[in-house]
Amino acid sequence: MHKILVSRCLLGHRVRYDGGASGPFDVLQQWIDEGRVVPLCPEVAGGLPTPRAAAEIPGGQGSEVLDGLTSVITVEGQDVSAEFLNGAHQALALVRQHGICIAVLKANSPSCGNRQTYDGTFSGVKVSGEGVTAALLKRHGVLVFSELELAEAGQALATLN
Ligand code: SF4
Repeated sequence: MHKILVSRCLLGHRVRYDGGASGPFDVLQQWIDEGRVVPLCPEVAGGLPTPRAAAEIPGGQGSEVLDGLTSVITVEGQDVSAEFLNGAHQALALVRQHGICIAVLKANSPSCGNRQTYDGTFSGVKVSGEGVTAALLKRHGVLVFSELELAEAGQALATLN
């Protein structure tokens, strides 16, 4: 049984910075029923409250946060890099614990975004980049999809079974 790491907010858990959630998504419910889903909200696991101040990465590159080249900053100017890195490493620990090679993470998030993130200006501008957790998981060979790519995630899973 191949497990899949999934962003908690995609499972209807109200863990987003604004106290909201996303979903439901039929395929995620199917994977829950199959016992495949390992849920995680990296920001909450990393120690941040809900609701919390919106945060962005200046330049939008989670890999630069991993390398200590930039920080995750809230709209109030607080550096929350430590919490974001803590959550990312908890995600990696779960991946290793469960032998996970597929993740479905929330698009555009500074933690979970797999293709785009906001650019750090808090003006709604997205850039090509990754959140901190998505970047760490990709570095370790995990295939990271978003809720916009559930069909692709399903195809990747099918190749494993
Ligand atoms: Fe948590 Fe990721 Fe969802 Fe943000 S996008 S609420 S960090 S699971």
